Amino acid sequence: MDKIIRATAADGFAKMAVIHAGNLVEKARAIHGCTPTAAAALGRTLCAASLLGNAMKEEDAALTIRIHGGGPIGSIIAVSDCEGNVRGCVSDASVDPPRRPDGKLNVGAAVGTDGMLTVSRDIGLRTPYIGSTELVSGEIAEDITRYLTESEQIPSACALGVLVNADGTVRAAGGFLVQLMPGAPDELIDTLEENIFMMDQLTLILSEDDEQELFRQVLKGLDPQILEESPVEYRCPCSPERMEEALTCIDKQDLAEMIDAGEDIEVCCDFCASRYVFTVNQLKAIAVRKMLTIPAVPFPEEGETDRVDTPQQ
Ligand code: ZN
Repeated sequence: MDKIIRATAADGFAKMAVIHAGNLVEKARAIHGCTPTAAAALGRTLCAASLLGNAMKEEDAALTIRIHGGGPIGSIIAVSDCEGNVRGCVSDASVDPPRRPDGKLNVGAAVGTDGMLTVSRDIGLRTPYIGSTELVSGEIAEDITRYLTESEQIPSACALGVLVNADGTVRAAGGFLVQLMPGAPDELIDTLEENIFMMDQLTLILSEDDEQELFRQVLKGLDPQILEESPVEYRCPCSPERMEEALTCIDKQDLAEMIDAGEDIEVCCDFCASRYVFTVNQLKAIAVRKMLTIPAVPFPEEGETDRVDTPQQ
């Protein structure tokens, strides 16, 4: 089972969250048909989104990470709900550049470094809170660390890893995020830096040990206290209604052309590959609604007469 575990340490001056996400990253890989490098790039971004989303307090909040580094993979998008359940996609999942000299997957070469990492937090207000930073390495974890430190002004350390089997499936995935609270003493920063420098390779810990080992190594000497554990999974909330809503946003001309073609259209969800079919009559209704710019209402079932909703007493 995939999960996020939270802990506090050093008298509350340090917070740490660990994510175990092998199943959800494998699901993402299978849905999108990712190469090992694309699976690592998407998987790391999904883990980061899950860690940040899970930390949001507001109910129904959502968090989106967008990475566009000018590399061959194109854009990476990962969306999390406030529990840390995530979905994501990449522009080109077939990218697989040669490995790095140290034998590791070359995520940085696939993502590129000429671009931005953008995080948008939607907490139900009219406009989401959006922050962004320039990419450092395209390796994701370093970029997330820079974003949190520069844009959100929280001293942070982040490590993310995806381990791929010889057959291309995901063996282990996950990582951690450590953040310092205001007033944290300088020695704490030194200790954490040294612990992280000395720790075993992340993917090795993720594939061979339980999460306790990550807390033990990263928070060594800092008296970690485990706070809570929550399950996370790959989850897409798409539905016929949401897809219809999306169709309402497409260009009028494109919609007219689809209607003229006289055939049902099939729309595929970018995140989970679910397919939704819309008939020409449904497309016409969408076009009419678009002209009138009235909010979406569900289509009446065949044979059902149009209803006028009256306010409930
Ligand atoms: Zn979907």
